[in-house]
Amino acid sequence: MNYVIEAASLTKKYKNFKALDDLNLHVPVGSIYGLIGKNGAGKTTLIGLICGLQKVDTGEYYIYGIKNTDKEILNVRSRIGAIVETPAIYENLSARDNIVEELTLLGVPTFDDVDDLLKLVGLSDVGAKKAGKFSLGMRQRLGIAIALAGNPDILILDEPINGLDPEGIIDIRELILKLNKEKNITILISSHYLDELSKIATHYGFVDKGKMKREISKDELINKMKHKIILKVNDAKKFIPYLDAQNITYEIENNKTINIFSNIKIPKLISDLAKNNLEVIDVLEASETLENYFLNLIGGDDNA
Ligand code: ATP
Repeated sequence: MNYVIEAASLTKKYKNFKALDDLNLHVPVGSIYGLIGKNGAGKTTLIGLICGLQKVDTGEYYIYGIKNTDKEILNVRSRIGAIVETPAIYENLSARDNIVEELTLLGVPTFDDVDDLLKLVGLSDVGAKKAGKFSLGMRQRLGIAIALAGNPDILILDEPINGLDPEGIIDIRELILKLNKEKNITILISSHYLDELSKIATHYGFVDKGKMKREISKDELINKMKHKIILKVNDAKKFIPYLDAQNITYEIENNKTINIFSNIKIPKLISDLAKNNLEVIDVLEASETLENYFLNLIGGDDNA
């Protein structure tokens, strides 16, 4: 597997507090990698280190295989576009002039790409309006356009949908998918909006208290999320001998509810039960949510 960003045993302390504690990270090429963690888990600190905004205490990270202590890291880091915390926007400039300013800072000799960038992020029609007057969603999209100005292969977005309304969230989601699919940009995105991330992420890293608790691909995660059939019955106890005899994995939630975890087709299950005079009143299907998976991973209520 090729990783565009890797980290091994990264530790970052603020005085005696470990904001990152022996953290590992593997961002596959072409992925949309969702970095999930509660407030204070260490996501922004991790992103800050990779973007060179802060210094590593111990451990290391690699961008395209180049180690953070190698002097080449500055060159390879220019392949990253990032928004860390809030987009770096000049409030008194238009969207166009903000991008021109960024291109100038980056030493890009032409401004030919500005129209394409404005179109890409859906800001073609905002004209001379100053960025200070933009909605939060427009600011976020302008921030992404600025981050894209250097034509990066990797885009890092720290909490890009914080505070956005539903329409703004959809815009950012579609933009991220477009950048990933059409421009082949690998995207590292931190968020605590699990449901939203699950609509776009191809890989997840679950961070808690400065540690990487688990890295997992979307497909692996789907397989791991428990699927269950919920049977509503009159007397659950009566079902036990049959379920045991059939080697079905189940739990009796209460005398009216049985959860079946085995992979069985519902019509067959109901008809087999009926043949054994076991009457089912209602059947439901449920999958564990990403939220539950995350809470189980980081240890439940005291962490919630
Ligand atoms: P959020 O979702 O709230 O942004 P986060 O996962 O990005 O959270 P970080 O901002 O990386 O978390 O913070 C991790 C921990 O490090 C927090 O407990 C935070 O208070 C602490 N921390 C971050 N920056 C500093 C700093 N400059 N000085 C002291 N402590 C800090």
